[in-house]
Amino acid sequence: MSLELEDRIIAYRERTELAAHNSQSRTRGRPHWQSAQSRLHEDTMAHRILLLIVMWLMPTAMMAEEPMLQLATFRADVTPPIGEGPCVGFMPKIASIEHPLELRGIVLRTNGESFVLAALDYQGLCNSSDDEFRQRMAEAAETTPGRVALQSLHQHTAPVLDADAVRILHGDDSEPLRQHLAFTKQMAERAAAAIREALPKMKPITRIIGSRAKVDRVASNRRIVQPDGSLLVRGSGTRDPKLQEAPEGLIDSWMRTVTFFDAGQPIAQLHYYATHPQSFYGDARISWDVPGLARQRLEKDTGVFQIYFNGCGGNIGLGKYNDATRAARDQLTDRLFDAMRRSARVAAGGAASEIEKLDATVDARSLKPTDVAWDQADLRFTVRDDGPFSAAALREQLQPDRPVSDRLKAAMFSAWANRLNAGHRVIVSRMRIGPLQLVHLPGEPFVEYQLFAQQQAGEKSFVCVAGYGECGVWYYGPDSIFRDRGGYEQTWSFTGPCQASVEAVLERLLSSNPPSRPKP
Ligand SMILES: [Zn+2]
Repeated sequence: MSLELEDRIIAYRERTELAAHNSQSRTRGRPHWQSAQSRLHEDTMAHRILLLIVMWLMPTAMMAEEPMLQLATFRADVTPPIGEGPCVGFMPKIASIEHPLELRGIVLRTNGESFVLAALDYQGLCNSSDDEFRQRMAEAAETTPGRVALQSLHQHTAPVLDADAVRILHGDDSEPLRQHLAFTKQMAERAAAAIREALPKMKPITRIIGSRAKVDRVASNRRIVQPDGSLLVRGSGTRDPKLQEAPEGLIDSWMRTVTFFDAGQPIAQLHYYATHPQSFYGDARISWDVPGLARQRLEKDTGVFQIYFNGCGGNIGLGKYNDATRAARDQLTDRLFDAMRRSARVAAGGAASEIEKLDATVDARSLKPTDVAWDQADLRFTVRDDGPFSAAALREQLQPDRPVSDRLKAAMFSAWANRLNAGHRVIVSRMRIGPLQLVHLPGEPFVEYQLFAQQQAGEKSFVCVAGYGECGVWYYGPDSIFRDRGGYEQTWSFTGPCQASVEAVLERLLSSNPPSRPKP
């Protein structure tokens, strides 16, 4: 046994003794630190001899350090009330609540530091509204906001929070802004409270498994290339046979799953799949929609805490397989659920096949401190100023007589542009645990970026990408989207060409030579 370990144990015993003496002394009305210190001096030799005997007899496991990885799960109800909604404007009135909305996450603790990974049943959190959530969640988890990955699922039957846009639309002293700020604060506090409640329930992680399963007929690309090179737009639901029959196009067809185990028992399962999740919208109904339905069903079936992250689904939707009927939603839910269930089954020791894979098994007890790392990098977006995004055009679009949709978009763009011009930096983070790499991107990235990330990391890594973090930028794709004829996403892309910046950040975070750890 090393001297260093012996000293550590003595130090621990001394701290324990000191605490015991302190409480005893307080009851006797003596200066507790004085009495404790003198007792410690007297007892030092006796302690050392006693400790050596105890250590000799003690099984190694009892002296083990804090586990390399610990995890706690949390969940908060973040459902808005019926009535005048808190959304920035996409769903101003809420008529009914089909499903409650949830924030689900984990706190991972390693090397004395905490990291939060959370998925929110909202369409998106923008600008200072995103700051508010992450700030409160970071305080609760005793970490920094940069170490809180908060990703939305992007259901369209759920709010977008963007207090800065509401301020531009309605003014500083307006009732809509007061309501928006109060609701955001209340929900952020619920998120923080859920984390505070979870922290004492940390469990040691003994094993982590990365698995995946092919998803059958759920995602399809929304940009269909025509023979003449122009693009057709395939929305989230369609009854147009031409759009239904067009091929799926470029997608990532795998559902990826990370399962955390404590002594053979799965305690949390994180799923990643890239697609817009909405089967319907526009009827002022609150719903967690297809991914929420699949997630809740799997949790009910397995008893394991489930989280679903939307990947780089910017240019991906359910359109090819969704005619916007109830039957289509049921089928899409069944197929998404089936992929989650098969991936989870592989993680639980089931056999893999052509359409299911076991990619990574990590013995968490043998991880070294250098095997676990959180890295982050700034992603530099540029403020767009072409056509409808020029200052003159924005002023015109914000006029009170303009259609609500024009005013809303101009306000949201202006809020984002103001933030960038004030020097705000958008963060991309990556948590690495052995061969597992969990990447967190802002906004609505195109699927090309998810495929690029996997390519950068190489075959030995198991890369899961979550999009829809801070959403102020909305869509961003390859630079070619600005030259395309047709297509929808570039009309809601609030950044100029950014492909080189996004790829450089992914390369830096994921290449096989990991970068040195920047300060948080
Ligand atoms: Zn979207």
